[in-house]
Amino acid sequence: MSVRAGIVVTGTEVLTGRVRDLNGPWLADRLLEFGVELAHITICGDRPADILAQLRFLAAEGVDLIVTSGGLGPTADDVTVATVAEFCGRELLLDPELEERIADILRRMIQRRTTSSTAVDFEAVLAANRKQAMVPVGAEILEPVGTAPGVVVPGTPTVVVLPGPPRELQPMWARAVATAAVQQATAGRTTYRQETIRMFGLPESGLAETLRIGEQSIAGFERMEITTCLRRGELEIVTRYEPDDVDVYAGLVGLLRDHHAREMFSTDGALIDDQVAALLSGRTIATAESCTAGMIAARLTDRAGSSAYVAGGVVSYSNEAKSDLLGVDAALIAEHGAVSEPVAEAMAAGALRRFGADTAIATTGIAGPGGGSAEKPVGTVCFSVALGDGTTTTRTLLLPGSRSDVRERSTTVAMHMLARALSGGDGD
Ligand code: ATP
Ligand code: MG
Repeated sequence: MSVRAGIVVTGTEVLTGRVRDLNGPWLADRLLEFGVELAHITICGDRPADILAQLRFLAAEGVDLIVTSGGLGPTADDVTVATVAEFCGRELLLDPELEERIADILRRMIQRRTTSSTAVDFEAVLAANRKQAMVPVGAEILEPVGTAPGVVVPGTPTVVVLPGPPRELQPMWARAVATAAVQQATAGRTTYRQETIRMFGLPESGLAETLRIGEQSIAGFERMEITTCLRRGELEIVTRYEPDDVDVYAGLVGLLRDHHAREMFSTDGALIDDQVAALLSGRTIATAESCTAGMIAARLTDRAGSSAYVAGGVVSYSNEAKSDLLGVDAALIAEHGAVSEPVAEAMAAGALRRFGADTAIATTGIAGPGGGSAEKPVGTVCFSVALGDGTTTTRTLLLPGSRSDVRERSTTVAMHMLARALSGGDGD
């Protein structure tokens, strides 16, 4: 990668975590698409000295481009433009035409919002906003989407200054990319390809071993950038490579398929939820949930258009609910316990019947922290998938982690069992 960038996210609310940073990740994706390598995202509060320190740090790292987010408002704690001007060694000058354009925006805004009972001292508003028309000498102006203009200051590094609210920052980034200064600073960029492979049920160590084989057996392997991330039992493998290395990437996909055909469920970036949604096309599904208590139903209905295949679900937390709502025989519960494969199966069968569905998934388990025993420790979860043709797949797993881990992981397991059962697999 020949062109590198850094992002400085400013804002005390972001630093403290009261507002989750949406701009850093969003800009990271855009830079990647644009062919620029992102070296760092730094976050600091609204203090000029801290912002300056981060700009200096990134410049010392040799980045070609710095993008800042936040601190462009009219209030005293909005100091980014002045700080960037100081960093770049450029004077700030009032741009009277920009000031007039901001005044127009404000006039329209105030007209829309003002009723006869709320008088606004427009002169005071304008005075506060004069600060937003102060532009570093030689900078290109990014016209405001809200009231705050951004700037692009050419140089080494070139600095793009964007507002904090994501709905303003995003369109203004598109404008920034089009400026001569950004085009020049990123002239040596290369567009990389990025592909995502997903696996389920493979530990990271298993993947690491296969990748070591790839290092030995695939020519050009080292030119690919492979990052892996384990989440809720799913391994996400993101690979970046230059367009010329498409065969090297094909070699990697082949290698992973040879070693982990069973675990590899997606090579086109699709999520398990996308796959389940596609597999449910033309079917109807019902859920019977105990330990996940509606989380599977929520995931199934997360997608627009899910009403075409989701019939409904029962949260049958108590034994009585399992019997009364799903027709699970009380004797079965007494004999095997509520967390047992026969009960999971009876729940799935009950959901099929109750909703007139052709697909059902049931969960019953011990999410903890209490309620475990030597025979059925915390994390024991029974799953059952029943299809209209009479096929049933039932499994018991011991899932690690806290109560919320167990519940979330169970939901993911259920989605994978559904996908396997619906695509004719054994649901394991
Ligand atoms: P304004 O004119 O609205 O003050 P600004 O450029 O000064 O714009 P900030 O004051 O830094 O922006 O942030 C304004 C609001 O925008 C924040 O309170 C927050 O709601 C949202 N915001 C800012 N930065 C981020 C971020 N990195 N991620 C998500 N939201 C953000
Ligand atoms: Mg602000």
